[in-house]
Amino acid sequence: MNTYKLIKLNKSIKNFRLKFLGLFLLHILKRRYLAIHFDPVNACNLRCKMCYFTDKGYVKKLKGIFPQDEIEYLGEAFFKRALKLQIGCGTEQTLYKNISKIVETASKYNVPNISLTTNANLLEMEKLEDWVSKGLSEIIISLHGVRKETYETTMAKGDFEKFKNSLSIISSLKKRYPLSLRVNYTFNEDNFSELSEFYNTFGKYDIDVLQIRPIIKLGNTEYNNFSLKKITPIYNEVLQGLIDDSKKHKVMLLAHNIHQINKRSSMDSVINKYVYCYISPSDLFDKKFNWKEDTYETYAKRVSIGKQIIRDAISSRSKILSYQNDKLNYEIN
Ligand code: SF4
Repeated sequence: MNTYKLIKLNKSIKNFRLKFLGLFLLHILKRRYLAIHFDPVNACNLRCKMCYFTDKGYVKKLKGIFPQDEIEYLGEAFFKRALKLQIGCGTEQTLYKNISKIVETASKYNVPNISLTTNANLLEMEKLEDWVSKGLSEIIISLHGVRKETYETTMAKGDFEKFKNSLSIISSLKKRYPLSLRVNYTFNEDNFSELSEFYNTFGKYDIDVLQIRPIIKLGNTEYNNFSLKKITPIYNEVLQGLIDDSKKHKVMLLAHNIHQINKRSSMDSVINKYVYCYISPSDLFDKKFNWKEDTYETYAKRVSIGKQIIRDAISSRSKILSYQNDKLNYEIN
């Protein structure tokens, strides 16, 4: 089942106890439920002004490259239980030397959804075709401006022409491979209204999914206007235009409704405690996992994941509310 169908299924289950019981069944039946979010390199070629890559203190600490000879172990330890492998979450993965091996390993373990997030400034046809032919099923591209000037100002060091060229390359590959293209647009008070021009500029590319999402504070960043006050009065009008245009272009639109842009948390995210699994050269989802000794199975048995899920299924609503975060805090149009 593809990722978006699973997200819809999760959203359709309103009762959190049922969400945890479903997860418990997947766990004891040894089925796939992990969403592995993997950043193999802690670096980026751009300096987007809303991103922690403009926070000098943060960047000094953000170092490291995942050893290529540990990719096989990563696969053996996690991929049998992975519903999704997201390569690239908070850094730029096209800087990593061996994406090919990661995709190949995920395919070997039959991970059903293998996705790559990128700023699309370093994509090359040959490399991309290699990854796609080995099983990469989705490319997610980050975008912070519809107009060239906004793009290149907000995504410092970014090149709008290279970005559009990457969209052309991906659109042409989509004619030959089962590949999905998603664009993630982060908006703030200064780039929001440009969204009404989105399809004038990008309508000719073969985009499957567009997500728009509000700026969040990621540290001491160069752009530091986190207010959405100017956006609120025009939000519904711009959103409705985007919903209509997305329908015409057969694009799935993921967007907060007017209440969600200020709420910043969602009951749909509570199972992320067990599903979301972040791995990078400097971070591991749980310190209790013994790297290079454990597999997910040995870890889950030792820390009694099954019992923990059941305990949550019968917990008080107030306890479960404390697990909420901003993930999945959007509507699917
Ligand atoms: S491309 Fe992504 S990771 Fe790189 S600076 Fe921009 S937002 Fe941050």
